[in-house]
Amino acid sequence: MRKIMAMLLLLSLSLTSAACGNGAKDSIPDGTFEGTGNGRGGEIKVSLTMKDQKVADIEVLENQESEGLSEAMNMLKEEIIATNNLDVDVVSGATLTSVGFRLAVQDAFSKTGADKSLLLKKEKPAPEKREEKYDADVIVIGAGGAGLTAAITAAENGMNVIVLEKMPMAGGNTLISGGEYAAPENWVQEKEALEDSADLFYGDIMKGGDEESDPALARVLADKALEGAKWLRDEVGMIFEDYMLFFGGHSVERSLVPKNATGYEMIHKLTEKLKETASPLHLETKATELIMDENGRVTGVKAEYHGQIIEYTAKKGVIMASGGFGYNKEMRAKYNEEMGEGYLSTNSVGSMGDGLVMAEKIGASLVDMSFIQAYPTCDTQSGALLYVGDVRLEGRSILVNKEGKRFVEELERRDVISKAVLQQTGGVSYMFWDASAMEDSGMDVKHASEYNGLIARKQLVKADTLEEAAAFFEIDAEELKKTVENYNQYAKDGKDLEFNKRGNLVPFGEGPYYIMVSKPAIHHTMGGIKINTEAQVVSTEGKVIEGLFAAGEVVGDIHGTNRLGSNAIADITVFGRIAGESVSK
Ligand code: ADP
Repeated sequence: MRKIMAMLLLLSLSLTSAACGNGAKDSIPDGTFEGTGNGRGGEIKVSLTMKDQKVADIEVLENQESEGLSEAMNMLKEEIIATNNLDVDVVSGATLTSVGFRLAVQDAFSKTGADKSLLLKKEKPAPEKREEKYDADVIVIGAGGAGLTAAITAAENGMNVIVLEKMPMAGGNTLISGGEYAAPENWVQEKEALEDSADLFYGDIMKGGDEESDPALARVLADKALEGAKWLRDEVGMIFEDYMLFFGGHSVERSLVPKNATGYEMIHKLTEKLKETASPLHLETKATELIMDENGRVTGVKAEYHGQIIEYTAKKGVIMASGGFGYNKEMRAKYNEEMGEGYLSTNSVGSMGDGLVMAEKIGASLVDMSFIQAYPTCDTQSGALLYVGDVRLEGRSILVNKEGKRFVEELERRDVISKAVLQQTGGVSYMFWDASAMEDSGMDVKHASEYNGLIARKQLVKADTLEEAAAFFEIDAEELKKTVENYNQYAKDGKDLEFNKRGNLVPFGEGPYYIMVSKPAIHHTMGGIKINTEAQVVSTEGKVIEGLFAAGEVVGDIHGTNRLGSNAIADITVFGRIAGESVSK
């Protein structure tokens, strides 16, 4: 109470002094002030605590940003407190979140009544000092899931490792993914008495990618996926939920779900683990060139840090883990005309294919580059993945078009659904589900900030009646009603006569009903660097390039034409670990 009184007193004092126009504007009152700004998901509300003319604390009171993006707010908060400057740069990859957060803090500051210029200094802190040359055993390019896994593994083998990351924070696409991990014979399956095997998983990878995967690589992924998941759980300390998701194209439900169903859990825990190994993570450091010696062995990397060129030498080798090229429109169009300009992307802005260009330049073989995947149900405005839509992966929603009709099997492969969506009116789909599907899946709770943001941006509607929900998006309500009745009949009979939907069919019941609009966006680039089963990079002549290893989305030929959902996290873990082992030999 005393604190509140003191605050009120301070506030009234500052308001009075501001109103009187006297010199008090030159000084900032102590106290806590609230402000708001608009981020990516909607309003961000913060409280700003000022003490002795300085920012003492910032607390985010409300926000609808995804967990991965919240990390950007933490970074900005620390920077503001450290520099006592509200004019911080946006965190690339999280522009809208950063802008919203900055506006909220500045709004809160305006409530102090003090002159803004006091905390808006133009001069930026100088970048951290770096040497011109670093020597290590292993240099890892990219701090996404694959790079961090490889770095930890190598460091645990006694290697001296440095990780280079061009963005201001670790994570890449892994951070903004749902983080689900396909693992046959996993502990949740065991608990639920679900039969599965590495062979069945192998068959799904091959079939899901139209038999275009390198069978040897797909075999390694299938055989080592469970081991990788256990490593993340037991050694890295990742927490998994006690339920699974059923991703399209898998024969059984086998996808483990990380805590809160986001990639944040994986990146957060891997980054903590990397710290334990005392391996430096050089952020804002963009690898630009691989260095080779006269024998054709890769011996290091050239990189750029705030305009400074740094040379990193790697006695044992370089691991390329720079991710895919899903954010690079030009590169997408270069390899597959259809996948260029016309698509938004779910990817991190860092997914520009840098590693592919660097590796190709020194003779690495690039394979399957035209295989580019769109995710079928993304935000129509930003292209972001919509996790609320995972209700589909629990088998509890249908996809309809403006005409109120289903048009595809909802658990088909991503490429098949995406193509089907693009042929519908407006190139969008409408996902429909009912109250019990929402309650059972808990999507509005698990992904509350996204859910609220979608409602606020009119991308999702909750309505008491089916007619009302349909009217919101101008969907043919009569047809939708018939579609739902038919679906309920199929559920009763145990067979979907229209699209033969897999899994258990659950009929729709009472409202409220939900409809979400979405459209396909580029999600994964299956093509990339050719590796062998030891994660060694292979040249265009089919020979191993000594000293160069690759893992993660930068690698090609593992998923064929199409990657199944939740196979990427298994892939980056399995091959990240192999690359870390191989480089240590
Ligand atoms: P993966 O799933 O294969 O780990 P991610 O997209 O999660 O792929 O991570 C790749 C990381 O590599 C991203 O954080 C990205 O910013 C980083 N990266 C991409 N190009 C470079 C580069 N030239 N130098 C340093 N880091 C890079």
